[in-house]
Amino acid sequence: MSGGPEHVLVVGAGLGGIRTVEQLRHAGYEGRISLVGAEEHTPYDRPPLSKQLLAGDWEAERLALKDDSGLEDLGVRLYLGLPAVALRPGEVELADGSVLSADAIVLATGVVARTLPGQPEVVHTLRTLDDALALRTDLDKAASLLVVGAGFIGAEVASTAVAKGVRVTVLEAAPVPLVRGLGERVGAMAGRLIAEGGVDLRLGVALREFVPTASGVTVELADGTRLEADVAVVGIGGRPDLEWLADTGLDLRDGVLCDATGRVLGLDGVWALGDMAAWADPETGGHHRHEHWTSTADQATVVSRAITGTEPPPPTVPYFWSDQFGLKIQLIGRPDLADSVEQLQGEGLDGGPIKGTVVGYFAGNALVAVAGFGAARYVVRYRALLQQKADREAARDLAASFVKK
Ligand SMILES: Cc1cc2nc3c(=O)[nH]c(=O)nc-3n(C[C@H](O)[C@H](O)[C@H](O)COP(=O)(O)OP(=O)(O)OC[C@H]3O[C@@H](n4cnc5c(N)ncnc54)[C@H](O)[C@@H]3O)c2cc1C
Repeated sequence: MSGGPEHVLVVGAGLGGIRTVEQLRHAGYEGRISLVGAEEHTPYDRPPLSKQLLAGDWEAERLALKDDSGLEDLGVRLYLGLPAVALRPGEVELADGSVLSADAIVLATGVVARTLPGQPEVVHTLRTLDDALALRTDLDKAASLLVVGAGFIGAEVASTAVAKGVRVTVLEAAPVPLVRGLGERVGAMAGRLIAEGGVDLRLGVALREFVPTASGVTVELADGTRLEADVAVVGIGGRPDLEWLADTGLDLRDGVLCDATGRVLGLDGVWALGDMAAWADPETGGHHRHEHWTSTADQATVVSRAITGTEPPPPTVPYFWSDQFGLKIQLIGRPDLADSVEQLQGEGLDGGPIKGTVVGYFAGNALVAVAGFGAARYVVRYRALLQQKADREAARDLAASFVKK
């Protein structure tokens, strides 16, 4: 590649940051690249934090997204343990007061775990490797765990803890878990998966306060019920932590607003991607922030190609997975665009076995998303239909073809 920027500065040394560096090199970029990270760790993968690492099956080293020689091969200068504290045109200031100038700046700072008002120190959240190691240490000594929030991470932590023989209670404020991600009926089935997995799942409960005790944590609910556990973790989602961008004048209400190639609206020479970035959404005309591994990796390719002026990659269909209670949950597409759901395979939505259930999400007659529960070999086959924007009949035909086999 000739021309293009002389120095690319990537802020955020997580998945989006390292994938951007890799993709820049892949696109032939030979200039300088710097990668700034708030944590001391070299880039690591987060999905195993609530799964293999928490279970004790994997150690931290296995989460590295790039080993030392891989990082060296990329020719990237690392600034670790140094959060960026300000962004100005063409430069970023770091916590130690140093200032890095660059002709292209990429923001990939992810999200931080949300906490509850008055949440005591002893109550865990789970976003970083250090969070996961601290939770694992406590969980290894615990007989009981209290999880606040029945979202994907809360459910995965519950699942891992049950498998370790820990007694788990999950408290969820909503009457149905995961309504925003999966919708009412599929969310209810996800709740059933948690309950059938051996968890005491309490829905529609309001939490009044946490009280740390000598042996653990007590939580008091709005109805006066008191629950005690050795360990507690709050899993109520993430929020972009963008205070360091306050002086840019950007609208930061829900992530950094970008066009459909990740260019930050209102700032020249700056891109943003991953959990922190709300990219223009051609489907709805608004902006959408995905907090998904695959979307982040895909966006890193788009941004790298835009910076290097190389051909953009073909559009992809959003994908998300979660491993819990012995099943892989997979979601392809955009369930948020749907106005109806239909069970394409299995019996989970009718109260039958959840394993093997595949649900189609439809906007009118158009298939917009597919969710599978322990049905990986089928789910993958629906991807092509989603790419082709197929209709209900095509989805039903594909489902029927599996039954015939
Ligand atoms: C426990 C857990 C389990 C998950 N499981 C799944 C899963 O099963 N499937 C799935 O699709 N997704 C999963 N995800 C989500 C997935 O990991 C994220 O979507 C992905 O990591 C997003 O990448 P990112 O680069 O935007 O953010 P991150 O990977 O979070 O990286 C952001 C980095 O920026 C750093 N940073 C923050 N502020 C600054 C600053 N001011 N200056 C410098 N650096 C900064 C942070 O320390 C962090 O290292 C999971 C996430 C977690 C936490």
